[in-house]
Amino acid sequence: MQDSDRKSVSILGATGSVGGSTVDLLLANPERFSVKALTGGRNVARLAELSRALRPEFVAIADPSCYGALKEALSGSGIEIAAGDEAVCEAADRPADWVMAAIVGCAGLLPTLTAVRRGATVALANKECLVSAGHIMMREVAGAGATLLPVDSEHNAIFQVFEQDRREAIDKIVLTASGGPFREATLAEMAGKSPAEAVAHPRWDMGAKISVDSATMMNKGLEVIEAAHLFALPEDRIDVLVHPESIIHSLVAYRDGSVLAQLGTPDMRTPISYALAWPERMQTNVRPLDLSEIATLTFSAPDMQRFPALALARAALRSGGAMPAVLNAANEIAVEGFLSGKLGFTGIAELVEEVMAAVDPAAPGTIDDVIGLDREIRGEAARRLERRAAADLSLTEADSAIEIGAGRL
Ligand code: NAD
Ligand code: MG
Repeated sequence: MQDSDRKSVSILGATGSVGGSTVDLLLANPERFSVKALTGGRNVARLAELSRALRPEFVAIADPSCYGALKEALSGSGIEIAAGDEAVCEAADRPADWVMAAIVGCAGLLPTLTAVRRGATVALANKECLVSAGHIMMREVAGAGATLLPVDSEHNAIFQVFEQDRREAIDKIVLTASGGPFREATLAEMAGKSPAEAVAHPRWDMGAKISVDSATMMNKGLEVIEAAHLFALPEDRIDVLVHPESIIHSLVAYRDGSVLAQLGTPDMRTPISYALAWPERMQTNVRPLDLSEIATLTFSAPDMQRFPALALARAALRSGGAMPAVLNAANEIAVEGFLSGKLGFTGIAELVEEVMAAVDPAAPGTIDDVIGLDREIRGEAARRLERRAAADLSLTEADSAIEIGAGRL
């Protein structure tokens, strides 16, 4: 088969969880796709392994200190190698028909935008870039004539059943949520949860950041904001429904009383394949859904008291302006703080709330504004995180002082 018959694809964030599911689909269909570029953050061994399997023209690693090791690992392969943030953007700029945007966090903003600006079809997993810069991204997509295909399983589900030409017939959309690993935990129990417990998601095997976001339900909050931009809906027309089995991936409620949903075995290869083959569909190795085996699907309303992050995200979306970017930046720092042991689990939403209450920046008008704002809020959140960590330490010292004192009595 001629190379020109194959769809050319690039993966930004190839070494991650979504990246890996995408690679799986490409390897299963070598006759349909050719690989232009791959990127990774700092996992040299994984990026080299993927590069040898997929034979891209260009490979970029974000961490410049990894350049030598990657070059050595791929020596003799003939693959062009570069390192640094600009190299990741260059990978996005290489002329692939289809680009998977699967970098985690605001770090994915510029690379994703680079692919958008050249009018590519962009499969979007990196929700944080829509949260931080939704209006700007959507304007750039329209201006460049790019195609944005949602990969987040909920948004992909809605995309499959949302009648774009009959928007006026749609009442609301409903994002389902697994509820995460602490769905039934009390706030007091949550306060003592460790990073290992938070990352152990009951239904999906994902990167650490989104796993923690799922545990706080900030993930669903980010997804409400993501949906507002993708489907041009206000906050009060985006509902959230807890559905622990993760079989119904989301729903669209029409004004005539019909509710359309997309169902499937929870496996990211389904939404990724939908974006990869769109507007066609392709065969995957996803386990077929057997509803008689599952037998029971359950639903409940989210508990906004135990999951305050969801309320914070809704508030940020309603406020608009800079607030969604503030929420996202503060959350990224809070999650890092939790994963590194500086912050307790319930401290994540507390820190985000504290930062949102403390700042009131102007709405960003350009991508440079968003990047500047993101940096500023990260700094603000990091300072407040250190202050909290120091206060916690003095608490622990005070506790032990009491114990020692008690022992002496
Ligand atoms: P992950 O942590 O497994 O992978 C992230 C990727 O980004 C890796 O390739 C990593 O090397 C790269 N990366 C990290 N920091 C970088 C930086 N500063 N510069 C360049 N590259 C960097 O994460 P994931 O679970 O694959 O999630 C990726 C994105 O997709 C996130 O935005 C997440 O919210 C979204 N998403 C993930 C899932 C899932 O099932 N994992 C589902 C829906 C949406
Ligand atoms: Mg999702």
